[in-house]
Amino acid sequence: MKRITNYHSHIALCGHAEGTVEDYIQEAIRNHYEEVGISDHAPIPSEWMPFSTYQYLWLDQMMTLQDFNEKYLPELEMCIKKYPMIHILKGLEIEYVPHHLDYYDMLRRKLDYFNLGIHYFQSENNIVSTYDHISNQNMIDYVQTLEEAIKTGLFTTFVHPDLYLLCVQNFTSFHEQLARKIIELCIKYQVYLEVNANGKGKYPKEEFWKIVKEYPDALILIGSDAHRIQDFHGKQVKDAISFAEKLGLNIQERMKLKPWK
Ligand SMILES: [Zn+2]
Ligand SMILES: [Zn+2]
Repeated sequence: MKRITNYHSHIALCGHAEGTVEDYIQEAIRNHYEEVGISDHAPIPSEWMPFSTYQYLWLDQMMTLQDFNEKYLPELEMCIKKYPMIHILKGLEIEYVPHHLDYYDMLRRKLDYFNLGIHYFQSENNIVSTYDHISNQNMIDYVQTLEEAIKTGLFTTFVHPDLYLLCVQNFTSFHEQLARKIIELCIKYQVYLEVNANGKGKYPKEEFWKIVKEYPDALILIGSDAHRIQDFHGKQVKDAISFAEKLGLNIQERMKLKPWK
């Protein structure tokens, strides 16, 4: 499969990635890509949670709303003008924190799309990190968060949907039921499921994607989730393509944008 698009990559603004928008666009052009969306981690207001939680989730290092308006958007606009040979989309990877729709709307109006990533979510009166050993109840709440998020119509793609399985050794019928719920929600709301190339061997989870394969209507994209320039079109991406091809997944070449207001 020749790769000509990518809708998931990060820049140095998030505090744990390298490079500028322009660096990624130049790498995309070098590799003959036709359409690229940049989707750095969105600014999340610190008032939304206790500061210790905010720090635990690295949110204090990520771009602020001021960075978004004064650095991120202008850099994207500059590249759109400077590189007309490639179609550049303005995106963000963002979490779903309920009760803040005005804030999401304000960001989304300035962009082409949102990637939904659930790296943390509300569960049992706490904010839980998806990278920790999460309980079965936490996993149910991960899917509940997806359901609430997806109903808003804000999101185009659910990135690394299999992240809830990060620490799962034995994939059981419980995990399978959750996988089916995730896939069925994404189909119902026409949201793409992303095979994420940046899982360092922990995802994509084969058990999850074998189930996706059973659903011919599922929309699937491969995302590089690059945090370094060399990961944009590197070995991980080739491995993700091989993974998808081996399972016979029907990968969409281009992401169709969802209109928003
Ligand atoms: Zn990141
Ligand atoms: Zn990402």
